Amino acid sequence: MLERAPATTCLAIEGLTKRFGGFYAVNDLQLEVATGDIHALIGPNGAGKTTFFNLVTGVLPADSGGIQFEGVPMLDTRASRRTLRGIARTFQNIRLFPHLTVLETVMIGEHCRLFPSVWQSFRAAALQLPFIEASQERAMRTSALTLLEFFGLADKRDAKASDLPYGDQRRLEMARALATQPRLLLLDEPAAGMNPHETEELDELITRIRGRGVTIILVEHDMRLVMEISDRVTVLNFGTKIAEGNPKEIQRNPAVIEAYLGEDVQL
Ligand code: ADP
Ligand code: MG
Repeated sequence: MLERAPATTCLAIEGLTKRFGGFYAVNDLQLEVATGDIHALIGPNGAGKTTFFNLVTGVLPADSGGIQFEGVPMLDTRASRRTLRGIARTFQNIRLFPHLTVLETVMIGEHCRLFPSVWQSFRAAALQLPFIEASQERAMRTSALTLLEFFGLADKRDAKASDLPYGDQRRLEMARALATQPRLLLLDEPAAGMNPHETEELDELITRIRGRGVTIILVEHDMRLVMEISDRVTVLNFGTKIAEGNPKEIQRNPAVIEAYLGEDVQL
């Protein structure tokens, strides 16, 4: 049994392991993420970063180890329940419903709180309940619009998600994730595909998200962004933690520099 994590720990990971066949994608990982931190998780391609996000969100089952979110064990908790508990994410490869508008996309995030399980949605349909009350719908629309304003997307509310430029799509994914009202947000390469100007704006945006009381785990290859905004940095290689510290310590850590040799990354 894991000891109960202290209140200031948002996420406590103990001996977390995930194998694909005989290959260890995440190998006996220990990690503590402090509440309110922007905690970067970096490492070369294939290091296990996305797999780690899949384990924390419950998309993939772990082989062994422990995951505690705000002191509550999560390993046996379904993905939809973890969302309700307050864990949200964005995806390395953008996943938006192409036919939905920008506003509808954010409202889908809000729906997660109303109908967390397929079963509940089914029951509502079987009992011929209206999908949601008109007043609820209005409240959701208002809060979705507020979120779109936060992300600078309000004037594009009626555009199709798939028609947005790439950088806007990335921000829309963040807005959808925040619509589930998370206290922990996992960002998987939010700067990927963004132009330098958009990436610079991400600094401020991610810092403002943290300002809303959301703890952030940031997986990112853009080291300028990582080193600029992170409180703490954990480095993975072959599923194992090879270093942890503040940005300055990480930049001069020989094991980190060696792990990145041959990668097109400037530490
Ligand atoms: P990262 O996000 O750090 O680039 P990933 O977590 O995506 O790394 O992948 C870690 C390793 O696990 C890679 O070698 C990848 O090929 C492998 N892997 C990831 N998902 C699967 C899967 N579903 N089946 C088999 N191997 C996988
Ligand atoms: Mg990845």
